[in-house]
Amino acid sequence: MAVLGVPELALVALVGVSGSGKSTFARRHFAPSQVLSSDAFRAMVADDENDQSASADAFDALHYVAGKRLRAGRLTVVDATNLQPHARAALVRVAREHDVLPVAIVLDVPEALAWARTEARADRTFGKQVLARMSRDLRRTYAQLAREGFRKVHVLRGVDEIDAAQIRFERLF
Ligand code: ATP
Ligand code: MG
Repeated sequence: MAVLGVPELALVALVGVSGSGKSTFARRHFAPSQVLSSDAFRAMVADDENDQSASADAFDALHYVAGKRLRAGRLTVVDATNLQPHARAALVRVAREHDVLPVAIVLDVPEALAWARTEARADRTFGKQVLARMSRDLRRTYAQLAREGFRKVHVLRGVDEIDAAQIRFERLF
């Protein structure tokens, strides 16, 4: 069973394709108020959690709130795919600006499973090609993550590892 060490005060970036189980993982391990999800911020700024044209404003708002939380010493989890280098760089920047450690937790499930889950959801309507692109982005992410400034990179491969994972919050002092 994987025990993931996470500093008590951290900015935790979940990383994974749609349907990998990020929101489920966040619900299981963190309090609702600790989790900032890109879906929720799209809904806040555009009344529609799937409105991709609202992403820039949604992430501006998400980063702003993350900064407020980190300044107040509150652990913050970012529930977004975080598959693009620029998305992760923005999170590392917010963490550094507040002297907080950025940590990545990668959820890696087989693409077929992510697709089956996505197809079954009424609130996700994108096609298989979109998921295939996310899977390619995830493969690239592995090579990039180590040098992006994350203090720790935890990788959970497959549903069993994801379901068995526990988080141990670590004191910094
Ligand atoms: P998105 O990026 O689209 O928001 P996500 O990574 O947040 O996706 P979830 O919403 O957590 O994914 O999960 C997608 C679907 O898969 C949900 O219907 C959820 O119930 C199911 N699921 C997620 N994790 C698990 C799990 N560990 N075991 C069984 N089912 C799961
Ligand atoms: Mg989600």
